[in-house]
Amino acid sequence: MPTEHSNPVDLVRQLHLHLESLQAAGVLFVPRSQLVLAPRRVAAKQASPPVEVPTQADPVEVRRRELDVLAQEVAACGKCSELFSTRLSTVFGAGPLDAEVMFVGDAPGSDEDAQGEPFVGKGGQLLRRIIGACGFTAPQTYLMNIIKCRPPRNRAPSTAECVNCRDFFQRQFELVRPKHVVALGEFTSRLLAQQNAKLSQLRNTVHQYRGVPLICTHHPDDIEDDKTNRLRGETWSDMKLLLATMGRAVPK
Ligand code: URA
Repeated sequence: MPTEHSNPVDLVRQLHLHLESLQAAGVLFVPRSQLVLAPRRVAAKQASPPVEVPTQADPVEVRRRELDVLAQEVAACGKCSELFSTRLSTVFGAGPLDAEVMFVGDAPGSDEDAQGEPFVGKGGQLLRRIIGACGFTAPQTYLMNIIKCRPPRNRAPSTAECVNCRDFFQRQFELVRPKHVVALGEFTSRLLAQQNAKLSQLRNTVHQYRGVPLICTHHPDDIEDDKTNRLRGETWSDMKLLLATMGRAVPK
C-alpha cells in the first residue's frame, strides 16, 4: 500500500501497474473525479480565508444590542392572548442606557398602542412637562411601563399579565441601568416598592428597587383628572424629593 511518505517514482510505477491490471480486466476508463478532483478538494479546503481574531467587545454596545434583541422578543410575544389579539403594537420603552432617571407607568394607553411609543398621549405630555420642569432633558430619562401591551378599555393590568411581562421588565431594567427610578401611580408604586400599601403611604420615602433609589408619585393621567390641583402640588413635592436624592438643585 502506498503511504503519504512513499517515493513519488514508486507511486507512479504502482499507479501504472494498477491501471494495466484494470485494463487487462476489461476496465477501459476510470472516472476523472477519483484521479483528479479529490486532491483538488483538499487544495480548496487549504485555501479557506484566515479566521478573524475577535476584538474586545464594547460593553455598552453589547448592552445596546441585547436591548434591541429584547425589544424584538417583546414584539413577537404572544403570552397574553387577549392583549396579543387586541394590541396594535407593543410599547417597549424609550431613552438612553444609564439614564439618570427612569419613569415607570403601568401600561400603554390608546395613543401609545397606536404609535408604539410610551407616554405620548395627554398624560404622557404632562409627564414630559414635569420632566422638563425638573431640569431633565429627554436624553437623561428613560420611559417605560410594567407591561408592554395596552389592556383593552385601559383596564388595569391583571396579575397574570404582570407575571408574563416580569422577565422582560427586569431584563430591560438591568440593561438600561438607570440611576434613579420614579414609579407613577399606586399600581406601579406597590409593585416596585413591593408593599401592599396606599400611594399616600408610599410617597415621601426613598425606597429601593434592585438597589436603585425609588420615588413613588402620582400617575400623570390621575393628575390630569384631578380638578383640585392637589395632585399637582404633591407630585411637585415628590419631584423635589427626587432632585434632593440626586443631589440636584430645584430649577427656579
Ligand atoms: N400611561 C402609562 O402608564 N403608560 C403610558 O405609556 C401611557 C399612559
